[in-house]
Amino acid sequence: MKQSSKNWSASVILSGSGILRHEEWDRWTGIIHGFTTKATPSTDPDAGFRTIRVKQVHGCGVVIADTSEDDIRPGDALVTSTQGLLLTIATADCLPVLLYSPSPSVIAAIHCGWRGLRAEVIAQTFKTMHEKFGVTSERVHACFGPAIEACCYEVGLDVVTPFGEKSVTKKDGRLFLDLAREACLQLVAAGIAESHILFSHHCTKCDPSLFHSYRRDGSRTGRQYNFIGLRPHNRQEQ
Ligand SMILES: [Zn+2]
Repeated sequence: MKQSSKNWSASVILSGSGILRHEEWDRWTGIIHGFTTKATPSTDPDAGFRTIRVKQVHGCGVVIADTSEDDIRPGDALVTSTQGLLLTIATADCLPVLLYSPSPSVIAAIHCGWRGLRAEVIAQTFKTMHEKFGVTSERVHACFGPAIEACCYEVGLDVVTPFGEKSVTKKDGRLFLDLAREACLQLVAAGIAESHILFSHHCTKCDPSLFHSYRRDGSRTGRQYNFIGLRPHNRQEQ
């Protein structure tokens, strides 16, 4: 597979199945994770996993996924400690954030657009991991998927107002929001170490060969699927 993105990060690999993964996260034996691209022929889950999705509403609702629930519930984050569930978030410019606590073994998938970040969906997700599953922030690792980057994400004053200047770039009187930088700041504010946070550095709008982009292609664009799952029958890792 040709590496076509101009922002290609050495730590991100495009596998033969057209799915992007972080190499650093491949060392975790307890999980599978990935981000589909236009090169992904099928979004069928890996054998042994059941796909869990939410009806994404650009809010901060957190859904705890378990084996009994078949309805698609409204929310923008999924959390589970149950093995064999593939927590899946659909995006086409918004930032997908995956969280993993190896011990206790708990995962999350979060849909982060500007509305969700303003509503503090990251803090709400970590609160659920902590209160329901006993996860502590120092054990949490985070991995970002492809999203629209600051190069392309021009926004109005109404959008940037709640965010600090570290996440906003001004250029020729125009404003650009950096979703990944803002998500990183919110993770750090929740107590997660910056050294545990992996960026994607793929801009969905810049690379039409690999990514769907709402900003570029409008409301009829396709979606990327961003997933994480706890492998069945795996021992807890440290
Ligand atoms: Zn761009």
